[in-house]
Amino acid sequence: MSEIEKPMLPSTIPEIRCSMCQSSTKILSTAMARMGFEHWTLRCASCGHIDQVQVNVGAAEIVGGVP
Ligand SMILES: [Zn+2]
Repeated sequence: MSEIEKPMLPSTIPEIRCSMCQSSTKILSTAMARMGFEHWTLRCASCGHIDQVQVNVGAAEIVGGVP
């Protein structure tokens, strides 16, 4: 077993690090991307780099069952 899926609760905000300097980021805006996913715009608190990520927020709906 090399793949570990961490369940993400909707109330839990995952910590997303800046892709440039690995500092903590601040959420600027969120938008619906597709079913169960949100598109987040993040700004680095350190260098000001803008990151855009897709976050799985549909924790209640499991997509792709594991046998
Ligand atoms: Zn940064």
